[in-house]
Amino acid sequence: MNMKKSTYLMIAGLLISSSSGFSQQQPGAAANQKMNTYISALMSKMTIEEKIGQLNLVTGGEATTGSAVSSDVEGKIQRGQVGGIFSMTTPQRIRKAQEIAVTKSRLKIPLIFGQDVIHGYKTTFPIPLGLAATWDLPLIQKTARIAATEASADGLNWTFSPMVDISRDPRWGRISEGSGEDTYLSSEIAKAMVKGYQGDDLTKYNTIMACVKHFALYGAAESGRDYNTTDMSLHRMYNEYLPPYKAAIDAGAGSVMTSFNDINGVPATANKWLMTDLLRKQWGFKGFVVTDYTAVSELIDHGLGDLQQVSALSLKAGVEMDMVSEGFLNTLGKSLKEGKVTEEQINNACKLVLEAKYKLGLFDDPYRYCNDARAKKEILTPANLQAAREVAGQSFVLLKNQNNLLPLKRSGTIALIGPLANTRSNMPGTWSVNAELNNTPSLLEGLKTVVGNNVKILHSLGSNLLEDPAYQERATMFGREIPRDNRSEEVIIQEAVANAMKADVVVAALGESSEMSGESSSRTDLEIPDVQQRLLAALLKTGKPVVLVLFTGRPLALKWESENVPAILNVWFGGTQAAAAIGDVLFGNVNPSGKLTATFPQNVGQVPIYYSHKSTGRPLEEGKWFSKFRSNYLDVTNEPLYPFGYGLSYTTFSYGDIKLSAPSFKAGESIKATVTVTNTGKYEGKEVVQLYTRDMVGSITRPVKELKSFQKISLKPGESREVTFTISAEDLKFYNAELQYVAEPGDFKLFIGTNSRDLKSADFKLL
Ligand code: BGC
Repeated sequence: MNMKKSTYLMIAGLLISSSSGFSQQQPGAAANQKMNTYISALMSKMTIEEKIGQLNLVTGGEATTGSAVSSDVEGKIQRGQVGGIFSMTTPQRIRKAQEIAVTKSRLKIPLIFGQDVIHGYKTTFPIPLGLAATWDLPLIQKTARIAATEASADGLNWTFSPMVDISRDPRWGRISEGSGEDTYLSSEIAKAMVKGYQGDDLTKYNTIMACVKHFALYGAAESGRDYNTTDMSLHRMYNEYLPPYKAAIDAGAGSVMTSFNDINGVPATANKWLMTDLLRKQWGFKGFVVTDYTAVSELIDHGLGDLQQVSALSLKAGVEMDMVSEGFLNTLGKSLKEGKVTEEQINNACKLVLEAKYKLGLFDDPYRYCNDARAKKEILTPANLQAAREVAGQSFVLLKNQNNLLPLKRSGTIALIGPLANTRSNMPGTWSVNAELNNTPSLLEGLKTVVGNNVKILHSLGSNLLEDPAYQERATMFGREIPRDNRSEEVIIQEAVANAMKADVVVAALGESSEMSGESSSRTDLEIPDVQQRLLAALLKTGKPVVLVLFTGRPLALKWESENVPAILNVWFGGTQAAAAIGDVLFGNVNPSGKLTATFPQNVGQVPIYYSHKSTGRPLEEGKWFSKFRSNYLDVTNEPLYPFGYGLSYTTFSYGDIKLSAPSFKAGESIKATVTVTNTGKYEGKEVVQLYTRDMVGSITRPVKELKSFQKISLKPGESREVTFTISAEDLKFYNAELQYVAEPGDFKLFIGTNSRDLKSADFKLL
């Protein structure tokens, strides 16, 4: 092996480059000048109180995610004490609030209107973890475009998305809101979402400003408990957790939201290194930073001081807008008088908030987003609903399909059983505050629309969602209604078994309710709840073929199910049209092609488990279970249950050997890697061809595999396609111990295949 020199060749020298910054939306120099002149003139008329008022973000109260709510909103707008409102929708309501700002406040400065538009607006798409499983960037961008069109038609101009927190801990409920465990894939998705929301002209009536969140490292909360501490080495941050935020910022995202957690001892919302040194000085971010919900006042509980102290800390760290705490509003004036903050700091924050409003075109027309006709015409259109159905179908992951049980025949009788089989409110998933249940059929209703009268469907509940009613109540907060039956478990199961006996096949709709993941929904048990497992066992005992339609917002531990249930289709929470999309896949209108973007463990004790781990000094030999004095467990293998990138199809694909255009290359050059992929089965199907590399010798330890590229292709039965990837030194760079971004010459392995485990490999050298 060609050892690398310890003095690394720096192929592109500079660390954390600040090159692109606000690229997409960056106005030309002349436009910039015009904006500066406008904002300076406006600010010269503002009192310090009015400047501080711009830093205050209040909630309109339609959906709250904390115990504090804003009061006297109208009065505050009139007095110039509000910069923006979130959680208020419809052109009528927003127009009314805007009218107060632009007619009754002294300087008539328009408000900005935000909302958590996370995976669609009224037309909801799969939860972000499901969207990621499509591995289809244009499709993901399209979902953000549709979301922006609908949200802006309903009066909004700002969304608290994309959420780009990497997470490798499925105990953390918010893993459902991100793209999963992988740095590269999450970065690509972050860019696609920003482009979808913002388009290339933020002043357009149908584009909205993105807000990258939660900055930063929120997904690394200790023990997977929400809001918990994060402690991480710098090289792990730079190589694994920070790139998706930077990708979104480089794509032009106009705003950033702080996270709730502390980072190496300093909460993000008061972290100057994070908000100023990294975000602005190194990355060149030009937009504004808003806190998460009451994150300023939560600094008191973090133990950093009283409201006045923590508000000053947060402003000085580089935060511009205070969401709901009103710490800025009520204490910055006093802090200024006492010399604890400077006028320049307040001016700078105010300027960035006003610039965002300027970029959205609100000074030209504060009612740009308040058009009643658009609200009627552009929301929940047939085209949007069709897109939702298509995307949902692409997001489902077929985990198991023994003896090709799926797709099902369009005849005979199906027993559709389970607590999630006939509930509408469970379909849209977490953070779908605007979803309309009238347009969201339950699985039972959706299947009927797909198969009409050709298939008879017998439905029964079979079990409750959770045995403990108090746990069920906690897990279905926010009005998600999951039917509950108070009769004995035995009777409920008997009814289901009787239906199963009359059917040709059983479809069991089980798993988590939508509110069992998302914010403040961490779990220590990753299995399907016991009461549902008992139902599943009873259904299997009938001897009828059983298909598990699995609802979940996180990777679950499904060892027992994987060994006992013949077919498992993971459907996440698929949004407005999930039910029809599930029918499309179950009955073969759509061939599943989703691939996992977060590893499914065998059990919760393996967590955190992810494909791009380090080798350790005592790696276990491949294929082995246990060796004394190696890095492994006594009671379970090191393998996941389902690896990153995994997902089956109704057809099969074979991969030829990798052909490299050259065995080595230098900086500035590239090589091509080609494989032939063949559809060896009976159905037309889509395959995500994945490329990974391994840096064999590094100046710091390097992951055993890293995703570097992928292509999603479609093949007819019998069809073959050559798939070619280009690899350059740029793809091999990482942050070394000195945080320099370098590619180090030496030996590499390259892998291509259908998931992160089943891969062909080849060797090459970077000279
Ligand atoms: C969440 C954010 C969200 C905010 C506003 C918070 O509780 O952490 O993701 O954007 O509420 O609703």
